[in-house]
Amino acid sequence: MARSYVAEARRRVGPKRERIRPIIERLAAEHPDATIALRFRSDLELLVSVMLSAQTTDVNVNHVTERLFEKYKRPEDYLAVPLEELENDIRATGFFRQKAKAIRATMQILLEEFDGQVPSRMDELLRLQGVARKTANVVVAERGAAEGIVVDTHVRRLSQRLGFTRQEDPVKIERDLMRLVPRADWNRFPHLLIWHGRRVCIARKPRCEVCVLNDLCPASRVEVATKASRATT
Ligand code: SF4
Repeated sequence: MARSYVAEARRRVGPKRERIRPIIERLAAEHPDATIALRFRSDLELLVSVMLSAQTTDVNVNHVTERLFEKYKRPEDYLAVPLEELENDIRATGFFRQKAKAIRATMQILLEEFDGQVPSRMDELLRLQGVARKTANVVVAERGAAEGIVVDTHVRRLSQRLGFTRQEDPVKIERDLMRLVPRADWNRFPHLLIWHGRRVCIARKPRCEVCVLNDLCPASRVEVATKASRATT
């Protein structure tokens, strides 16, 4: 989109501070089922699932963890088998060598520093090897007290299209979103964007014509088409 169109589009939809509430409300009505797609029954399973979800789909992770969690129930279990065995058990999630190493290092720290329990604070989770900010954010949010906003590929794309950020770096995007999104919505906000991104605001071909946000979105193609047709009449 040309720069002049972007500026015009941003003016048309109004300031992001005025749009954020209606956008959250409409997305919540549109995607009442928007929750985490990973399947887990404990904090440990949640942590491992999120670690495995890097560079693969949640469906794929769920498929692998269905068996994995029958075999590995405590941090000790991940350390009791040879590394190659764990690698093999998580192979289908991709990048299995790095993931197996990170999981084992994390289990070691859990046992040494946290009595085998998954810590609840962000700063503690970030001490675990292989747990980056996104993973820690997901774990903290799922346990009910988000300290930040999860930024994955959908959250990044939609935040940019909706004019919430001009940044590319996930940490800077998160900072912009934390300033904009009411704290009470930090848990559900990423899920709403993720599900909207999967169903409607698709990466290659956003379905703007059926999108409930098309009058609030500076990147809406519906509006661009209308402008273009006006210009030719
Ligand atoms: S109007 Fe289009 S670009 Fe904007 S959020 Fe909806 S689908 Fe995405």
